[in-house]
Amino acid sequence: MSAPTQSPETRTSSVGQNAPRPAGNASAAAALEVRGLTVHYGHIEAVRGIDLTLEPGGITALVGANGAGKSTTLLALSGLLPKLAGSVVFNGEDITRLAPHQIVARGIVQVPEGRAILTTMTVRENLELGAYRLGGNAAAKDFDYVFALFPRLKERLDGVAGNLSGGEQQMLAIARALMAKPRLLLLDEPSMGLAPIVVQEIFRALRSINADGLTLFLVEQNVRQALKIAQRGYVLENGSLALSGSGKELLNHPRVLQAYLGV
Ligand code: ATP
Repeated sequence: MSAPTQSPETRTSSVGQNAPRPAGNASAAAALEVRGLTVHYGHIEAVRGIDLTLEPGGITALVGANGAGKSTTLLALSGLLPKLAGSVVFNGEDITRLAPHQIVARGIVQVPEGRAILTTMTVRENLELGAYRLGGNAAAKDFDYVFALFPRLKERLDGVAGNLSGGEQQMLAIARALMAKPRLLLLDEPSMGLAPIVVQEIFRALRSINADGLTLFLVEQNVRQALKIAQRGYVLENGSLALSGSGKELLNHPRVLQAYLGV
């Protein structure tokens, strides 16, 4: 059973009021309001009426254990899973019932769990596919932006993506999403299966992308790393929100310390 949602978030300072102007590969900072989101797989109640607020220009983390409902939440936000109940408002527009391609067209782009890069295609071709939402014309400055973030992708540009290491494939998945000039980037466990040093590299890049003005929603089992870079965090347990607050508050919360950080 999940504990009722506590609300240190009422004390959380907003990062949205003076959101930075995007200098990188974001179109504009964007906000998302989720109310009562409910998603079932048949009789399995995977997500049970959750509320989330993503401030424009911020990093929001959704953390929790295996099977808590994190991926289901992201897939529902992307329109890839039907919502049984609830509403999703993006920059003032109700997008609850939009199809996945319409949601992508609004600038909500997901980096899926397991990366889903096209392993038989080259790094360049994967990146060009990312620009599909913009008519397929990948601009040189967009390539330059992702190469500055991940120089290794430039070195491997004409190599087959399947030959990249796990960390490089994650970099490619993030870079491909950035080629679409998102307004909101949804990331499903970018640290999964990566060595700690590579995780650090990925999280440094996420901070940098966010500093350039892009709003991030980060789903992670790596609770410590995610809450460290997030202004606001939510803890999901058995499909319900157990806690919410600033990243710092949650990192020091006894329940988080005990259940997720082994302290
Ligand atoms: P993980 O880190 O393992 O991806 P998660 O927090 O993302 O965990 P979900 O994958 O969203 O969790 O799963 C939430 C619940 O829904 C779990 O009980 C899971 O077994 C169930 N579930 C997920 N996908 C399906 C599916 N396609 N059909 C039926 N049940 C599913």
